[in-house]
Amino acid sequence: DPALEVTDLSFRYGKKEALRSVSFRVMPGEFCALLGPNGAGKSTLFALLTRLFVARQGRIAVMGQDLQTNPRAALACMGVVFQQMTLDLDLSVARNLAYFGALHGLSRREAALRAGAVLERLDMAERAREKARNLNGGHRRRLEIARALMHRPRLLLLDEPTVGLDTRSRAAITAHVHALARDDGIAVLWATHLVDEVAPEDTALILHQGEILQTGRADQLAPKGG
Ligand code: ADP
Ligand code: ADP
Repeated sequence: DPALEVTDLSFRYGKKEALRSVSFRVMPGEFCALLGPNGAGKSTLFALLTRLFVARQGRIAVMGQDLQTNPRAALACMGVVFQQMTLDLDLSVARNLAYFGALHGLSRREAALRAGAVLERLDMAERAREKARNLNGGHRRRLEIARALMHRPRLLLLDEPTVGLDTRSRAAITAHVHALARDDGIAVLWATHLVDEVAPEDTALILHQGEILQTGRADQLAPKGG
């Protein structure tokens, strides 16, 4: 069954139509790149998926749970990496994670164990005691991903997670998130306008002026001119 199923989703800002009957699904273990130029509707889609906005038309289901009628269950299956920083820079890496664990109802012990596991997964185990402020941009972003994994989501949404990072940090994060999909079976929706972050076997979902233009394996999409 799909981890994320979006059906006939539309959204307008006043008269401006930002999304037009968007439908797609992301399966467990699938890395789905959401591609589209500025203004395509990526941020609007993210806002709807994370329930910042509520759609009047269409349906969003996460692990079979309807986001509209059963938001708690749906959101519990979802980890989100926003563009805005959610970290407390004055706390250590481990304390940042413990804090988010507590928000999700984990006990101190569970949160500590889980924090250790997610840091290991993101190659940051040796940074646990460092203050978040002392991390470089790439490691801060990795900590944001670790945070989003604390409650064991089955679906991970990332909104342009490599913006502002250097090539090496971008490559590391792209590789880590691909591994989360491949090895842990997490469904990933990765919004980007950078085609080089997409691997040939990934799914590409191309959004243009609020509509899905193409979807399929990234290496099988029709090449574009320009
Ligand atoms: P993207 O994230 O892909 O750049 P957005 O979702 O931000 O795209 O925007 C989709 C479309 O909706 C664009 O045409 C944008 O100008 C428009 N839009 C976004 N937010 C608003 C808003 N608050 N009011 C009116 N139009 C908006
Ligand atoms: P992004 O697309 O990366 O979110 P933008 O610069 O397009 O960034 O938009 C910044 C903010 O302005 C967002 O909150 C967006 O919803 C809003 N916005 C974008 N386009 C419009 C628009 N045409 N009218 C009003 N607000 C808009």
